[in-house]
Amino acid sequence: MKVDTLLLGPMLNCTYIIENRGLAVLIDPSWDMPAIYKFLEDKNLKPAAVFFTHAHQDHLTDAEALLIKYNLKGYLEERDEPLCSLPKVLVELYKAPKIFEIAGLKIEIISTPGHTKGSVCIRIGNVLFTGDTLFVNSVGRTDLPGANPGSLIKSLKILTSLPRETIVYTGHSYGGKDGFKTTIDGQLSSNPYLKLAKNNPKLLEDML
Ligand SMILES: [Zn+2]
Repeated sequence: MKVDTLLLGPMLNCTYIIENRGLAVLIDPSWDMPAIYKFLEDKNLKPAAVFFTHAHQDHLTDAEALLIKYNLKGYLEERDEPLCSLPKVLVELYKAPKIFEIAGLKIEIISTPGHTKGSVCIRIGNVLFTGDTLFVNSVGRTDLPGANPGSLIKSLKILTSLPRETIVYTGHSYGGKDGFKTTIDGQLSSNPYLKLAKNNPKLLEDML
């Protein structure tokens, strides 16, 4: 398994392409479909599945074209359906937590509401894709419709219990150079929100 990152669009959204056995699992394909098509074609990868970490528009802009081109449906946690602008016929709703077996990969969906009701983190082996739940040294906004600070704190606490060596890929590159990639261990030492979620969640309530 190999993880590739495409930084696309004006908000430094991360499209992740997980390669395994000539197949590709895509997470949050958005903004620049031609760039994604070119990447897949250059590497001779066949898309096997598309997952969305949540249904905010910047994580699925223009994904409709990709889903049609490759005859796929995008997997979305059902609680985010009200936010989703994709045609219903292109979306496969499911309830987290859930485990998928696709492209020879065990894909574990962890329910992490807070940024949105249906936000999930996606764990494959020792790699975790956090969407807008966790950023490098920050966390997702909780002031948008459907967001809930208390839920986000509980979700962050779940992440603090994962193995510390877990590699984290975030939904935006907000952390400077390579600002989309970190570890649980690194964030437990440098991310004030994650530290507080673990050690003093009550105080964190006042900050979100
Ligand atoms: Zn978002």
